[in-house]
Amino acid sequence: MAYDLFRARRVLAVQPHYDDNDIAIGGTLCRLADAGAVITYLTVTDDLVGVLDPALLPAEATEQLRAEQHEAGVIVGVAEQRWLDWPDAGRIDIVTLRDQIVGVMREVQPEIVLTCDPWLAYETHRDHIQTGSATLEAAMMAGLARLAVSGAPWNVPTVGLYFAGEPNAVIDTSSVQERRHRALDAYRAQFDADGLAGLHAVLDRHESAQAPVGATHGEALRIMPSGALHCGVRPLRRPASGGAFIDDRGATP
Ligand SMILES: [Zn+2]
Repeated sequence: MAYDLFRARRVLAVQPHYDDNDIAIGGTLCRLADAGAVITYLTVTDDLVGVLDPALLPAEATEQLRAEQHEAGVIVGVAEQRWLDWPDAGRIDIVTLRDQIVGVMREVQPEIVLTCDPWLAYETHRDHIQTGSATLEAAMMAGLARLAVSGAPWNVPTVGLYFAGEPNAVIDTSSVQERRHRALDAYRAQFDADGLAGLHAVLDRHESAQAPVGATHGEALRIMPSGALHCGVRPLRRPASGGAFIDDRGATP
């Protein structure tokens, strides 16, 4: 049976920066909220490097970032925002970060965890690579009782990667386009008017081009069972009809 993303009741979306979840899959997150999912955002960095105004003090910039994130979150339907405040574009201790994310997973008990694809070809931003990597390792380990992190073990069944190099699902976001774009208008600390106009145009073009049949817009994800996140646990299989082996590590549970 095909995996139905919209049956998830608890969703954890882990992002490097305050706007990544909404830029990548804002429409999907709107639809999840509308379907009744309780959505938690976890932002890994303090995001200060991306702030346009060099005159803002860090505390002032942080206040603006939090307010903008709240504004966008209300539009999308995010239930809770959490932050880890690692230095933007700075040094991250990836094992510490992984364990922090495990702690959040054990509290939130998500049925799906969404994050950026750490294996996207040509991705240079270390925050994206490390956030995706730490989050997926956390998803693979959160159910291990002997991992020294507080909280009861929680098996994350499914993960979804956005900004994915090899997506295996496209979500129809036609019905939430206005809202999806309106949420992005909140992110004024890091986009001037021209920057926002460009962002809207690029996303509209991209999401139109990859829309599923019968839809005007779509957002791409790679959805995988967490069991596929270590040693390729779901190996190649031979189809019932015989013939070549199929790599189904991306297959949904
Ligand atoms: Zn980012």
